[in-house]
Amino acid sequence: MEVIRDFADRAPVDLDAMARALGVEVRRDQNLPENVSGKIERRRAGVVATINASHLANRQRFTLAHELAHRILHSDLIGDGITDDGLYRSSLSDDIERQANAFAAELLMPARLVRKLYREGMKDTPSIAERFDVSYDAARVRLRELFG
Ligand SMILES: [Zn+2]
Repeated sequence: MEVIRDFADRAPVDLDAMARALGVEVRRDQNLPENVSGKIERRRAGVVATINASHLANRQRFTLAHELAHRILHSDLIGDGITDDGLYRSSLSDDIERQANAFAAELLMPARLVRKLYREGMKDTPSIAERFDVSYDAARVRLRELFG
C-alpha cells in the first residue's frame, strides 16, 4: 500500500511507474480480441499485465489500473491468469471484479488528491477528466462517489 501512496499525490498518476514499483511488467498488445480489455498472469519472470492496445488511451489506462488492482488485492487469485472481457468480467466473481473496478478508480483518481483539487476550485467533470487523464464517464462517476 505504501508503494501506491508514493504515486497518489501527482495527477495524472504515473501508472507505468506504479506497475514497475509493484514488479508488474506491462505489455501492450494490438492483437488481443476486441472483447478482451486485458489480463494479468504469472510468468516465470514475474507478473505480466497485458493491455489491449487497440482500445482508446483512456480505456487502456483504466484497464492497467484494473489489472494492478488485481495484483494488489487478488494476488492469491491470479492462478493461471485472469482475463477481463470488455465489461471487466472474468472467471472471478462479479463482486471481486467490482472490487477491482472500485480500486482502479482510486488508483487513477486518489480520493485525497481529487478532494484537494476540488477544494481549490476544480469541480467540473471535464477538468478532472483531463487532469487525471481518464474518460469523462470515469471522472463523472468518481465525482459523484466522492461528493454525491
Ligand atoms: Zn478483472
